[in-house]
This record gives sequence, C-alpha cells and structure tokens, in this order.
Amino acid sequence: MSSNAPSQSSPGRLIVLSGPSGSGKTTLIREALTTGDLPLRLAISATTREARPNEIDGVHYHFWTSEKFLDAIHADLFLEHAKVYGHHYGTLRSEVDPYLSQGINVLLEIDVQGGIQIKEQMPGCVMVFLRASTPKEYERRLRSRNTDKKDSLEKRLESALNEIAIGTQQYEFQIINDDLSEAVRDFRNLINSLGKKSQPKLTTI
Ligand code: 5GP
Repeated sequence: MSSNAPSQSSPGRLIVLSGPSGSGKTTLIREALTTGDLPLRLAISATTREARPNEIDGVHYHFWTSEKFLDAIHADLFLEHAKVYGHHYGTLRSEVDPYLSQGINVLLEIDVQGGIQIKEQMPGCVMVFLRASTPKEYERRLRSRNTDKKDSLEKRLESALNEIAIGTQQYEFQIINDDLSEAVRDFRNLINSLGKKSQPKLTTI
C-alpha cells in the first residue's frame, strides 16, 4: 500500500484530469480517493456557478460572485481559468503551489481549455483524459440519461465531441471509463507509479 506521506526531497506532481461532462470524473475521483491511501490532494476550484443542493462552499467549490472572480483574475490569483457553459471556473494558485512545494501531489479536475493552459505553463504535469471508448457510446449515454430539450442535448454532444478531439490529441494518458472499477484501477495505478521508472499500460484506443 502506498504512503500518503509527502516526499521531503522532491516537489509534488501536478495531475490534470479532464473529460467531457458525463464522462464520470467526479465519480472516478470519489472512488479513487475513498480509501485515503492515494498520495494525492484534490484542489478546490473557484466558480461563479450556483451551488447545487448537495454542494458545500469550500468543499466542492469556492462559490464566488462574478465580481470576486474578476478581482481574483486581475490580482493574478489563478493558475488557469476558463468559461465553461457560461460560468467562470478557475484553479487558485493557493490550492496548488504550497502543496507541490511540500512534495504533495495535486489533482485538478478541470476542462480541456484549462488543461491546455496548465500544460503550457507546467510541462512536467501529468495529463489524464477520461472518456467512453467511442463517441457513439458517449452519445448513447448522454441520450439515455439526458432530460434536457433536444437542442441542449445537441449542444452538450457537440461540446463533448470537441473536448474528446482535443483531449485525445493533447493528453498523454487516456483512461477509458466503460467500466468504472477498471477506470478507477487504471487511475490509481497511474498515480501510484508517478516517480517510478515505468508507468502502467492504460486502456487506450
Ligand atoms: P460542474 O459545474 O459540472 O461541476 O463542472 C463543469 C465543468 O467545469 C467540468 O468539465 C469541470 O471539469 C470544469 N471545471 C471545474 N473546475 C474547473 C477549473 O478550476 N478550471 C477549469 N478550466 N474548468 C473547471
């Protein structure tokens, strides 16, 4: 079993996890972190979207007003920020820098626009993209669970296909989430292998 104790000698690794909405990022993270033995801290993003009923300020997100968010952009408090589905989202430097410098790995669950910004600034980051095995499978899932009107579904699908195109090209690790337990296993193996000489073979297509 891996130790959660940070390494004193080397900085932590920054891991970026992206995937189209509905790809299962939140579930994967919850499952992967549930045992508490994965050497990883999940950064809490700031957003201007409203909290959902089960979400807690400071736990799931920092829920900020647009004014506060824009002030933070001007004060250069963000490592990256992007507009997703009409709302601002951003990774605060304070959620990342102090941990990396203590040797703690930090996980960002962000969209591909943010992921590309991080990759440009921090070439040593680990880029992980989560998706269904085929765009057709993804479409089937979205249709089966989506209760929105048709044009909203079409928009989500278009945006998902766009994200998949970018994620497939720009992200070094691809995790296929057709089976949640396999995806969690792949993700845990990847995190546990960081810093080791060889990295696990992941389910890629
Ligand atoms: P949701 O509102 O469903 O929690 O998230 C919507 C999208 O915003 C997801 O794709 C999620 O990964 C992305 N997201 C969450 N936090 C951040 C962030 O700090 N930066 C960026 N660029 N995207 C984020």
